Parts: sequence; C-alpha cells; structure tokens
Amino acid sequence: MPTSTEWLTTLDLVDHHCHGVVESDLTRPQFEDLITESDVPAPAGTTHFDTQLGMALRAHCPPVLDLPAFASPDDYLARRAELGAHEVNQRLLRASGITDYVVETGFRPDLILSPEQMGERGAARSAEVVRLELLAEQVAAAHDPADFLTAFRARLDHELTRAVGVKSVAAYRGGFELDPTPPGEEEVTRAVVQWRAQTPEGQPLRLTDPVLIRAGWWEAIHRAVPIQLHVGYGDPDVDLHRTNPLLLSDLLRNARCSGASFLLLHCYPFHREAGYLAHVFEHVYCDVGLAVNYTGAQSAQVIAESLELTPFHKALFSSDAWGAAELFHLGAVLFRRGLGEALERWAAADGWPAEEQERIARMICSENARRVYGLDRTGRATGETR
Ligand SMILES: [Zn+2]
Repeated sequence: MPTSTEWLTTLDLVDHHCHGVVESDLTRPQFEDLITESDVPAPAGTTHFDTQLGMALRAHCPPVLDLPAFASPDDYLARRAELGAHEVNQRLLRASGITDYVVETGFRPDLILSPEQMGERGAARSAEVVRLELLAEQVAAAHDPADFLTAFRARLDHELTRAVGVKSVAAYRGGFELDPTPPGEEEVTRAVVQWRAQTPEGQPLRLTDPVLIRAGWWEAIHRAVPIQLHVGYGDPDVDLHRTNPLLLSDLLRNARCSGASFLLLHCYPFHREAGYLAHVFEHVYCDVGLAVNYTGAQSAQVIAESLELTPFHKALFSSDAWGAAELFHLGAVLFRRGLGEALERWAAADGWPAEEQERIARMICSENARRVYGLDRTGRATGETR
C-alpha cells in the first residue's frame, strides 16, 4: 500500500547486524525452522506460518517471486524451489534495498554465505563482525591454558585487521549478571584449566565460564572497537530475565572513556530499557532488529517505542536475519514502514518539517552505523573507531 513516506526507500540502509543466507533448496520443515525462534516444529496440524512473521512474509515476499500476496505457504515454497535458492536469494536481497550488510559470522558459518557472497548476491557492500565466544573456544582448543590469553589476544588482533567489530552472546551463556570488572590473568588461566577439565573428551568446548566471557569483553573494550551484545528475545537458550540490559549498567559505566562502543541488539521486550541506556551513556547504541520481523504488522509500535528515549543519533537498523533471504526483505520493508509512520505521527503532532524527518531517517538508516563502525561509503573500514 503506497504511503507518503515512500521516500524512505530511496535512502541507504545499513543492516548493522545480520548473518548469511542458506543457499541450498529447503524443504518445508527446514524453511519453517528458519522463520521461528523456537527450536521445534509447530504442533501437529499447525504451522509456524501462523504468526506475525508468517503473515508478514506472505504479505510482502510472494510478489518478489512473481506470486500474488498471501499465496499459500505450499505455493510459495513450490515457487521458491522452482526458481532455486540462488535466484531467490538474489531477488529478495536486492528487493530489500539494503545497501550494506554487517555480517556476524559466529553461528554455523558452514551453512551460510560469507560476507563477500552476501555483498555479491545483494549487489551491496559488506563487512564482518566476529564472535568473541567462538574465538575463545577455538583458541582454548588449540593452546595450553597458560598460553590462552596471549593466543586469544593475537587472534583477536588478527581478526580485527579485517572485522569492523565483535559480538558477544553472553546472553545465551548465562546472562548479564557478571562482575563488571576485567578478570586477572591468573584467574583466566585457572578458568581455562577448569573449562577443559570439565569438558568430556571428544566434546567441543562451549564457553559459558563467566570469567572467560568477561575476559573477552575486556579484551574488546581495551581495543576500543564496536561491541555488539545480544539483548533480550532470542531462541530457547536465552533465560530472558537474565538479559535485561540494565544488568549491564556497571559494565557500561566502567567502560566509559575506553573508546569502545556498545551496540545493544534486538532488545525486545527491553527496548525501552535499552533506549534509556543509549540516552544516558555516550557509548551505547541500540536497535530492535529481530523484533521487527517477529512482531510483523505490530512492528511499527515497537519501532516507535524504541525511539521514545533513544537519541536519533544512537538508533540503528538491523534485520538479524539468518538463513532465509525473506528475513532481510521483511526487516527492511517493516522497518522503513514503521519509521515512516512514527515520523509522520510526530510531524502531525508537532509540525516536524519534511527535511528534519529526512535528516533523522538518514541517521537511523545509515549514518549512525557508518560512524560507529567506521564504514566509509565504499563499505571499507576507515579505521576511525580504532
Ligand atoms: Zn544475530
């Protein structure tokens, strides 16, 4: 449906937190697994299409594949298979109008396209963010505990010659109720010894140790890089009550003046708390990615709520898409619509001039992300934030 805020589609859109898409043909159960945060199929006789996300997908994606809106899930997936995953990915990514993908590569990188491939499929620029916990797991598996910290630092420095930031999934590994200070070197070595001893022979190392999670945070803080933190809603690994971003308050205070920036991702249902933190702390930013797709037709309200306290120079766009190219297209369509509706409403209330609405939209859609990650308009890191 055309709106008076269609001008938003002409603006650059930086997806500052996303993942790669799968480029193999998908069965219906495999596709349904990509459109839910649940880790199990819908109960017998029901479908994950019967959600806000499913209805939004059926409203906005079939026309990109030459089908009418609200084509049945079976017809949609048949058309998807007929076109093939490469063509489907290319069509949906390009339809999104996303100009820059900042791709986090820490979750099942073996199954998805690389940042470079995402840029090629989407005719867009791409950059990479690396996951601290995955680096720690790889370093701990390859080095003696006494060498862990030195090897972790060297690995992180190496990754940051290419990556524009780091991500932490502490929310999935016990939550944010952690000591907000850096651990000592001996404490780190002891934690690695214990971690390896507790992991059964032949099992992969999975980092949940709070000392080592803090060690990763502080190594990143000392490097003054952008640090993405998963906050709030996610898959069933999350204990939601331990991911309220207010639990990070002391860490954020302690990291003031470090030069590091904190990017609070997703945040739902704590998007108002995240907005408060972005408001009071100069180095905190936030988005409502993921929640935009999963709240579908209701997402405009979530976007507007997230902009109640978040300064406009601290809000960003992300899709948090993983696997299905539909999630990029939906993220972009719903975000532009929600932001446009919010700006229109505030303009109606207080007479915000059109050029001021556009200036604010530019900040949120691309300029804030370019500034905080040091991206220039060719997509390369400028090094300004290091
Ligand atoms: Zn993510």
